Amino acid sequence: MLDFKKIISHAKEYGFIFQSSDIYDGLSAVYDYGQNGVLLKNNIKDYWWKSMVQINPDIVGIDSSIFMHPTTWKASGHVDAFNDPLIDNKDSKKRYRADVLIEEYCSKIEKKIKKEIIKAKKRYGEKFNEKEFTATNPRVKSYNDKIKNILKRLAKSLDKNNLMDVKLLIEELQITCPVSGSKNWTDVRQFNLMFGTKIGASSESSMELYLRPETAQGIFLNFLNVQKSSRLKIPFGIAQIGKAFRNEIIARQFIFRMREFEQMEMQFFVKPGSQKKWYEKWKERRLNWHLSLGLNKENYRFHDHEKLAHYADLASDIEFNFPFGFKELEGIHSRTDFDLKSHEKFSGKKIKFFDQKSNENFTPYVIETSIGLDRMFLAIFSHSLNEEKLEDGSSRIVLKLPEILTPVKVAILPLVKKDGLSKLGDKICKDLKWSFNVIYDEKDAIGRRYRRQDAIGTPICVTIDHQTLKDQKVTIRDRDTMAQERVKIKNINEFIRNKLDFRKWLEKFDS
Ligand code: ATP
Repeated sequence: MLDFKKIISHAKEYGFIFQSSDIYDGLSAVYDYGQNGVLLKNNIKDYWWKSMVQINPDIVGIDSSIFMHPTTWKASGHVDAFNDPLIDNKDSKKRYRADVLIEEYCSKIEKKIKKEIIKAKKRYGEKFNEKEFTATNPRVKSYNDKIKNILKRLAKSLDKNNLMDVKLLIEELQITCPVSGSKNWTDVRQFNLMFGTKIGASSESSMELYLRPETAQGIFLNFLNVQKSSRLKIPFGIAQIGKAFRNEIIARQFIFRMREFEQMEMQFFVKPGSQKKWYEKWKERRLNWHLSLGLNKENYRFHDHEKLAHYADLASDIEFNFPFGFKELEGIHSRTDFDLKSHEKFSGKKIKFFDQKSNENFTPYVIETSIGLDRMFLAIFSHSLNEEKLEDGSSRIVLKLPEILTPVKVAILPLVKKDGLSKLGDKICKDLKWSFNVIYDEKDAIGRRYRRQDAIGTPICVTIDHQTLKDQKVTIRDRDTMAQERVKIKNINEFIRNKLDFRKWLEKFDS
């Protein structure tokens, strides 16, 4: 993986991601997707949507609006509880999330554990057993105990809204401000993350609204509509992709934490009592979805929650090894019947499922899978970008995206413009454009053209040379191996199609 700064500048240079309102010096934690970024993003959406809605007969999709009745957020608990604990450093005047400061402190201890493991690996060689070492080495054990105790105390204090204790913990751990280096902290306060706005023209009739901070509530509010109109029986799911907005206190790390972002969420409605089984199943399914894209398994890990949100009885994150360490990529939550019951209470409408088999009415329990589309983009993008040394001593930057997600699938490159090669290239392009995103490029030497395609991840380059005019064959160059083979013009379409068959990508992971 390349350095994080290089990843960010590559994303800008090649039209993947731009800072929003760039010419006005940008808007903090808001980003735009460029000509290649939007294609990659749409392909991620498509891959998720197909894996949820197309291949599962028991899951349907919706697209609910961003504006929702304000009572939604009272019922969901967001008005009262969608807060982050913030703390300011009096010297640097910088603002932090108190829980993140403490979690980062724990990450530093984790790094020390890793160092001990590397040292021991060197010492013991092949005989080294990491599991046994971690369980018995006194230093590692004491580090692990320390992390466990800190996180437990943090979870308990946040749960009880004991903000004094959160500050005490920061003081006891002697956490300093990364900017000023001082321990001169304010008290910890709660800060609500929802953006407020107004709907309606006149001051008497206008209504205070929130921009939705999650897409899930649009699904809960449509539970009855979808269930009745689709006649689906429990267990079944509703999926949705859409924008969400959060006034994040600290918004660093590029598109990892944005104020306007996109979520891909699925709520799976199950019979009360069966939620644990479904929760485990969805944890497995979602990890398999990630693995199907072919990034190294070691980049993913589960983090089961100590601190549960007010609506959950079980929760786990799929964490990914981002350029700045393991962080949450997706959340899998057992949300109980909290949301549906609460909307029933606030709306006065009966929100139940009638089970004909057992002849009973019940409020379904919910398993949620929730992934940030932008975080998924960052995960895939950062791990696909490599700098490779070539045999001739030169190097190349190559974006080894999973082929199914690449913005452009094929580039058509006539070796020279003259002798009818351009014309033939144009003809091939016009034929392929109905099936794939194609680029036509006839400028510069062929080597430079290959590099341009490598930089945006195009998996296949088709070169047309003089021989093509004679045998109707082109050279197909593979992005990753750079191997070349001759393929008949009439077989190019099938050749590419084979690489992009959705079934091949996902089938073996579909459990
Ligand atoms: P975090 O702890 O990182 O703030 P969260 O636990 O609040 O995340 P959820 O409410 O579970 O996140 O949201 C589900 C998913 O939405 C997350 O796993 C993440 O991928 C994505 N997400 C949440 N907040 C943001 C954000 N500010 N920018 C980009 N993606 C986000």
